[in-house]
Amino acid sequence: MLSFYDGFFLNLCVLITALFLYKELAKRKSFEMKTVSTSIVIGVLSGLLAAILMHFSIKASTNSMIDLRIVPFMLVILYGNWLSVLSSAVLIIFARFMIGINAYSVSNIIFILASWMIFYYCFKKIKNRWVSITVMLILSNTVYTVLTVILIDLKELNLLLISTYWISCILGGLISVYMMDYLTETEIIFKENRYHSRTDPLTGLNNVRSFEFEFNKAKNKLEKSNENFSIMILDIDHFKQVNDQYGHLEGDLVLKKLAEILKMSQNSNDIISRNGGEEFSVLLNDCNHKEAYEKANALRKIVENSFFILQNGFKSIHITISIGITTYNDTTIKFDNIYDHADQALYLAKNSGRNKVCSYSQVIDSVFN
Ligand code: GH3
Ligand code: MG
Ligand code: MG
Repeated sequence: MLSFYDGFFLNLCVLITALFLYKELAKRKSFEMKTVSTSIVIGVLSGLLAAILMHFSIKASTNSMIDLRIVPFMLVILYGNWLSVLSSAVLIIFARFMIGINAYSVSNIIFILASWMIFYYCFKKIKNRWVSITVMLILSNTVYTVLTVILIDLKELNLLLISTYWISCILGGLISVYMMDYLTETEIIFKENRYHSRTDPLTGLNNVRSFEFEFNKAKNKLEKSNENFSIMILDIDHFKQVNDQYGHLEGDLVLKKLAEILKMSQNSNDIISRNGGEEFSVLLNDCNHKEAYEKANALRKIVENSFFILQNGFKSIHITISIGITTYNDTTIKFDNIYDHADQALYLAKNSGRNKVCSYSQVIDSVFN
């Protein structure tokens, strides 16, 4: 049993650490979708935290202790769903019975169920968040006080016990909600910044930074395995004319539509990037030269046959693309050369008529012939 100041400080540390750990866990993709299992896990974690807080109960007077079990329960109402709340309630009730089967553990059932109703009602009915949380804590503390007055030996009941509980719960509750909101907001900002730092704003494809990251990742992977790896670099033919004729904004629509076509024809192993202007690249993991050529040619045909809608639907145009390809361990031996080799193949495609796919092997042939 800890003195009030030590106990309260320790409880706050436990709460804040638990919230940090929970937020780290919640970053996992599986946590973003609130499935039945994740809802139960959230509830169980809240219940476990309540049990830990019961373990670190605070000494309020000579013979009485208080704890902050209600704070994680309130958090699960604010951030979880009914299944999380149910799992948390069951665990808190069970944990209290594990400490001892007596009138206090029975009154704990009433306390948790009453707090559930209070929290839920305030959460739904009071629009102002901080007012709602304060009212939740005041009403739940009132239930606690009434139950304590009914249960406790009158000579042990003193203002210190009740006021200690009220101060700890209200402060602990408000600080925890503030922390959760702060962590959630920072996480959203972090994710947004990460997205923008990796994504081309016009097309939503990977940007050059992302391309370089993926390129290096593939390089490291290929050093350890003997997988095929191909790359295609593609560029719109005479795109300047589109801009000149219809304007830059309409040109942007063409780039967006091309990006959609690329995404639609993408395999799960492919990494598509906009490397700049009207130049795109596709990293083809686990793809040999023949497959890469077939893919590139199929893509070229799809683009050639697609309608690019401009001027609010009043105009549709066709465009073509030229593509350069090469394959690591086949047409290109040194990994670091593959971008340059695909670029040379693209250059050949441009210079030999456009709207075509050229391989680096053709570049070599053209040098020797
Ligand atoms: P080539 O067949 O040789 O590739 O000819 P091209 O006209 O496509 O190539 P060039 O390099 O002469 O012109 C590229 C054009 O792409 C010029 C530039 O204004 C345009 N461009 C680059 N980035 C953007 C963009 O973000 N939006 C729009 N609308 N145009 C862009
Ligand atoms: Mg071009
Ligand atoms: Mg270009």
